[in-house]
Amino acid sequence: MLKECCEALGDKIFEIGIGLETSNDYTREKKINKGFSREDFEKAVNIIKNSEFKCDVRAKAYLFVKPILTSEKDAIEEAVNSAFYAESVGASRISFCPATIHKDTLMELLWKKGSYQPPWIWSVMEIIQRVRSDVKIPVIMDTAGFGSSRGPYNCKKCNSKLKAIIIESNLDQTVPETFECECKSRWKAEVDYSDITRSTTGISRKK
Ligand SMILES: [Zn+2]
Repeated sequence: MLKECCEALGDKIFEIGIGLETSNDYTREKKINKGFSREDFEKAVNIIKNSEFKCDVRAKAYLFVKPILTSEKDAIEEAVNSAFYAESVGASRISFCPATIHKDTLMELLWKKGSYQPPWIWSVMEIIQRVRSDVKIPVIMDTAGFGSSRGPYNCKKCNSKLKAIIIESNLDQTVPETFECECKSRWKAEVDYSDITRSTTGISRKK
């Protein structure tokens, strides 16, 4: 199949996106219900990279930011570790997808009960800053849903400004620079002290 695609593409780049979501097998299997292991991912990347295909075949890893039952701090650390892992096993590009709440999902159910909240945009910022500083391959941070009640959220004063900074940095692949906002101390407190059962509710975050 890959061989046939390559023949049709000639000398073009052929990028195959794989929804790895995280380098943590437990999270991928139990919290995301994905159905494949790290080993499967590595095998797939090896097939893509070690092939004798005529065109330039590359693997892109999609990584998910903040699965359910994950604290703000753990969500940051897992996303950063997943990027290092994806690069180390041969992915040539990474795309981060921070969580947004979709209808009729377990995530929505937990969100309505106050047991889940998408990541803060500050967390997303920290992830992209740390990853861009140390990972050599291109990294994209998806900003879909930023600033909405069902997506990554800081406060009304800084949401759109930070979103614009991230979009800009996706284009030039630089480490984004941030600024101070009064909501940042609440984010910091959540990173330092919250666990998965004491997630900040959307209502309190919108102050
Ligand atoms: Zn703010």
